[in-house]
Amino acid sequence: MAFRNFKMVGYVVYGRGSFNQLDEIISPHRKESRPMIFLVDHFFEGKPLVNRIPVRGNDKIIFVDVTYEPKTTYVDQLAQQLKEEFGTVSGVIGIGGGSTMDLAKAVSLMMNNPGSSADYQGWDLVKNPGVYKAGIPTLSGTGAEVSRTTVLTGPTKKLGMNSDFTPFDQIILDPELTANAPANQRFYTGMDCYIHCIESLEGTYLNEFSKSYGEKALQLCRDVFVHTDGWNEECDDKLMMASYAGGMSIAYSQVGVAHAVSYGLSYLLGTKHGIGNCIVMNHLEEYYPAGVKEFKYMVEKNKIEIPVGICKGLSDDDFEKMINVSMGMKPLWENALGKDWEKIMTREKLRALYDKL
Ligand code: NAD
Ligand code: ZN
Repeated sequence: MAFRNFKMVGYVVYGRGSFNQLDEIISPHRKESRPMIFLVDHFFEGKPLVNRIPVRGNDKIIFVDVTYEPKTTYVDQLAQQLKEEFGTVSGVIGIGGGSTMDLAKAVSLMMNNPGSSADYQGWDLVKNPGVYKAGIPTLSGTGAEVSRTTVLTGPTKKLGMNSDFTPFDQIILDPELTANAPANQRFYTGMDCYIHCIESLEGTYLNEFSKSYGEKALQLCRDVFVHTDGWNEECDDKLMMASYAGGMSIAYSQVGVAHAVSYGLSYLLGTKHGIGNCIVMNHLEEYYPAGVKEFKYMVEKNKIEIPVGICKGLSDDDFEKMINVSMGMKPLWENALGKDWEKIMTREKLRALYDKL
């Protein structure tokens, strides 16, 4: 058996106001006349945060459209635009939620790799390191700040550029940046972390490494969504660390049923990651009884609406497509249900589950 030898993020800074160190942190990585590129979530256009970005020389801020989750075509277009305008750049800094951070990682890689990002969807296909890249989350939960992947929807599949070159060189974890997220969005993205923990801790791949991080992340999620009435600054602090620890937990294990099923929804219907996981988790009593019970309690306590009936009216063909995508996520199923998962999760059973959503 070979143990996973995984590449981690290079540098981490954590704390309220740590965003103010961005200028100092990136300055050693500025090269000659090459600009730093700030990919910023379009939510922040016109907001005060933009004035705090340390723009120097020919640096450029690009507001990225994250209405839809990142596509390979969008990554290619951004990288192409930068190559035409500057030849090459000093680095790419992603400021936003999971979508923006994934775009930043992917664009950094595509500055130094030929062809289309779709060519690199898979495991260890990326050939060259990207340009310097930093990630600054403004939502907490996905763990995209620590992961070795960048989830992209391509022409034929939804799959990450999963490689040792993918993790950020630097992340800046400043909980102040998540302060203004709307309650629903904060919950959906926060539940991504909660679900990572349940799937990791209940999975067959679990070991003491992922358990250590998973248990801590779970406790932080509970502090925020179960034990706090309303919201306070401490919630932002805790959820940011929950996201980090949850990401570290799955780095050495795997996600499970909620993610495997939710990938089918997102492929066919474009359902976003956080809310899609919630829609599925709502119906997974059979697989994660305690986790689902607590999930439902958190939904109620935080007065969140989880959509139901999203698969109503779909054709048999549509269901087949979702089942194919979901069944393709073999490591997720194996982690959740064990080596004999195919005997447990049959196509019929999965269809019945999708019918309930
Ligand atoms: P997101 O990045 O898709 O953003 C969701 C919405 O919140 C957007 O409208 C955005 O503009 C807005 N937003 C962001 N920050 C805000 C703030 N501070 N205040 C108000 N609004 C804000 O959401 P997400 O849940 O963070 O990320 C989901 C994405 O992450 C998906 O594309 C998913 O595939 C990806 N993901 C990646 C990994 C990984 O390991 N790379 C893991 C999980 C999920
Ligand atoms: Zn997730």
